[in-house]
Amino acid sequence: MNNLYSIQRMRRLRKTEKLRELFQETHLSLNDICLPIFVEEELKDYQEISSMPCIFRIPEKRLAYEIERIAKSGIKSVMTFGVSHHLDEIGSDTWKEDGLVARILRICKDTVPEIIVMSDTCFCEYTSHGHCGVLYDNIIDNDTTIHNLGLQAVTAASAGADFIAPSASMDGHVAAIRQALDNAGFIDTAIMSYSTKFASALYAPFRDAAGSCLIGNRKTYQMNPMNRREAIHESLIDINEGADAIMVKPAGTYLDIIRDLRERTELPLGAYQVSGEYAQIKFASMAGAINETLVILETLGSIKRAGADIIFTYFALQLAENKILPLR
Ligand SMILES: [Zn+2]
Repeated sequence: MNNLYSIQRMRRLRKTEKLRELFQETHLSLNDICLPIFVEEELKDYQEISSMPCIFRIPEKRLAYEIERIAKSGIKSVMTFGVSHHLDEIGSDTWKEDGLVARILRICKDTVPEIIVMSDTCFCEYTSHGHCGVLYDNIIDNDTTIHNLGLQAVTAASAGADFIAPSASMDGHVAAIRQALDNAGFIDTAIMSYSTKFASALYAPFRDAAGSCLIGNRKTYQMNPMNRREAIHESLIDINEGADAIMVKPAGTYLDIIRDLRERTELPLGAYQVSGEYAQIKFASMAGAINETLVILETLGSIKRAGADIIFTYFALQLAENKILPLR
């Protein structure tokens, strides 16, 4: 009993709900959230993605309706992915003026001009082999691919994209895109780079979602999940090339990398809670093993606590429409 006064009584600040709220350090709101969406051309009806319950491919003809619904829910930004029916060896549909990338962006911005649209900028949903670039003798040709990324970026910018979001993990991608945008007069179009992107097994449900026909893997361009120093270096390169914001993908299994980057740069930092992270929570909830909403908020909160400013999450619409996240 003599030692009682030396006890640090942390429980004093946890006594009531109000006290716990007062001393909460990390807060989430819809300002922190971006919703990734999949838009498929020539699709008759919404198609649920079997490995991502409650997430649907949106038919292109329903995109205007959906973007209105998303904006009305309070969500402020979307990341757009096209599911193309016009595949070729190099993904040339992505830089056509009337291609799917351009049409998606025009529909979004014509319908809700104020919604922030980030255009995922890659080729894997548009190439017949499913890789993120131009393939020569089974090897991705880096420099041809970044040239083509520049073409796609200019098309996306002219169709209204607020952000070009290169996700192909090619060397020099940000510099090539910045130069192409500037040369075409799009000096105000920003770049949100998937700057540290790991070759993760957690992307598997996304491949269903995006209709990827990938044979092989992406380990020659995406990062080894076991490498921390390289993860930091990758993002610092993109910052030097002119990225306006950077990203870590996936998020939940890479909180240490998010924290490392938070301490190395003052730039806005995104983190992408990927399809496999979504599926883990959704299927566990469907099995009655967890409280879905609490686990979603805990995972997103931990990503923000680690240092992310913007979280890309498939749970965004559910959180917004059910008023689980405040508008702030
Ligand atoms: Zn890709």
